[in-house]
Amino acid sequence: MILYLASGNKHKQKEMQEILPEYEIRIPADDGIEFDPAETGTTFYENSLIKAKALWEIVKKPVIADDSGICVDALGGEPGIYTSRYAGPEFVHGRPDGKKISQEEQNRFLIEQLNATGSKDRSCHYTCAMVLYVKPDQLYVAQEIFEGKLINSIEEQAGNGGFGYDPIVFLPEYGKTVAEISAEEKNKISHRGKAVKVIAEILKNLQKN
Ligand code: IMP
Repeated sequence: MILYLASGNKHKQKEMQEILPEYEIRIPADDGIEFDPAETGTTFYENSLIKAKALWEIVKKPVIADDSGICVDALGGEPGIYTSRYAGPEFVHGRPDGKKISQEEQNRFLIEQLNATGSKDRSCHYTCAMVLYVKPDQLYVAQEIFEGKLINSIEEQAGNGGFGYDPIVFLPEYGKTVAEISAEEKNKISHRGKAVKVIAEILKNLQKN
């Protein structure tokens, strides 16, 4: 069965495919669909719903959408829903010209921004809000977090796995960054991994009925 994922992110598609091997996970680009809805919500959940609904309107088939980001405690939860647009302390919610900076720059800026607060609190978490949009009057949501600590300086970044901010998020109980653990391990404990498991359970129950 085909499940559409309302995302342009191939890493997310790969992670989702690993967790849901019984489905064919397709993203809009796989079908030549241009998909870039304005994420105007004020929460992860609202943005996830916006993406799910927008793609359902096009494909009219069950859609999964996720909205995720990293929240740093000592920065009051920033960059949060603005994580993909984060462009440093001056442009926490994105640059006015809409241009994105590289992931390497995002990682360096985020550490520098936290260090500039002088806070000893390095706690952060990823959040993932996932919506399963079967049709307009049938939808489900799961939201989960994945906790870690931001490394002290960019020199400490480590690992080639995962994506995004993973090389700068340290997991004390593993003694490794998220980018150093295996994809399998990450899927077991990550925000997206946990949310998709809840959604997978719902899908299973829907197929039974
Ligand atoms: P979205 O695609 O609009 O949900 O934006 C997600 C943002 O959060 C991107 O900047 C990602 O790099 C980041 N992000 C979400 N999940 C992860 C993860 O598992 N690892 C690293 N970065 C993540």
